[in-house]
Amino acid sequence: MRNLATLALASLSIFSMGAAAPVASPGKYHEPIGIERQWRHYHPGKINFQITSPEKDGAKIYSSIVSDPDSYITDNARRVIQTLYFSPADSIPDIRVIDYVVRDFDGISYKSGGGDNVRIDYSTDWIEKSFANNDTLKLDYETRGVIYHELTHAFQLEPKGCGSYDGKSPYWAFIEGTADAVRLACGCFEQDFASKDRPRGGNWMSGYRITGYFLYWLNQNKDKDFIRKFNRTALDVVPWSWDEAMYHILGRDEKNSVASLWNEYMAAVGDEEDAARAQPVVAEDQQPAERKHRKGKHHRK
Ligand SMILES: [Zn+2]
Repeated sequence: MRNLATLALASLSIFSMGAAAPVASPGKYHEPIGIERQWRHYHPGKINFQITSPEKDGAKIYSSIVSDPDSYITDNARRVIQTLYFSPADSIPDIRVIDYVVRDFDGISYKSGGGDNVRIDYSTDWIEKSFANNDTLKLDYETRGVIYHELTHAFQLEPKGCGSYDGKSPYWAFIEGTADAVRLACGCFEQDFASKDRPRGGNWMSGYRITGYFLYWLNQNKDKDFIRKFNRTALDVVPWSWDEAMYHILGRDEKNSVASLWNEYMAAVGDEEDAARAQPVVAEDQQPAERKHRKGKHHRK
């Protein structure tokens, strides 16, 4: 595995930077998921990788854990695309260039740009925070998780007729819920529903992890291709709505309304009382940065 080889090198180089030796926790932060044969040569676009704050520790740390950014980003894009689509023949947004910029800014990561040229910025400050305990594997896990989320925004389909990127519409909940469902399906949130990674309460409109774990539960319990089919409803269900998307995938039956499915999910994971309390959405660390940086820039035209 390239990543493990990279990590071994990273241990040496970070140690030589004068920091304490990395503490590995291999049980928790597993290796990246495999790439299916049909995606191994899929071209997700040209990677234009830049470090624009090279003086920052975060930039140096990034370079030590990611020795080949083009391959790292390309392979993680393939993992995202195979989670969203059945085959390369599907209707996949044709991205020509992915600008990936590691730089100093207040936030975590965000996607901007549109059409066939998307841009993802990743914060050196966040890299430093994620490396606080010199845990190389934890930083790799976090970095992959963030990139899965942002690359989903580059490659996901966007539903029509259900609002805009406003932090509350069905459109927004679809966009952010799918991004965290893909991150989870790719293994960069804990897939155990009892995990602390899964926020309690909220509902399918809460977005981010709250919606993401719901979509993943549907994938594990109702249809093994649920996430792919859900992404596809952006094309097939117009105007888009939660109920119509669920009926389209699972069959037109009252038990498949989104409210019924949510209640079934809550009961299955033992959360009914939490659901009633409807805790505020504080699920996603990325939220403030994304809101700030992505406002008005999200839509692909
Ligand atoms: Zn997002």
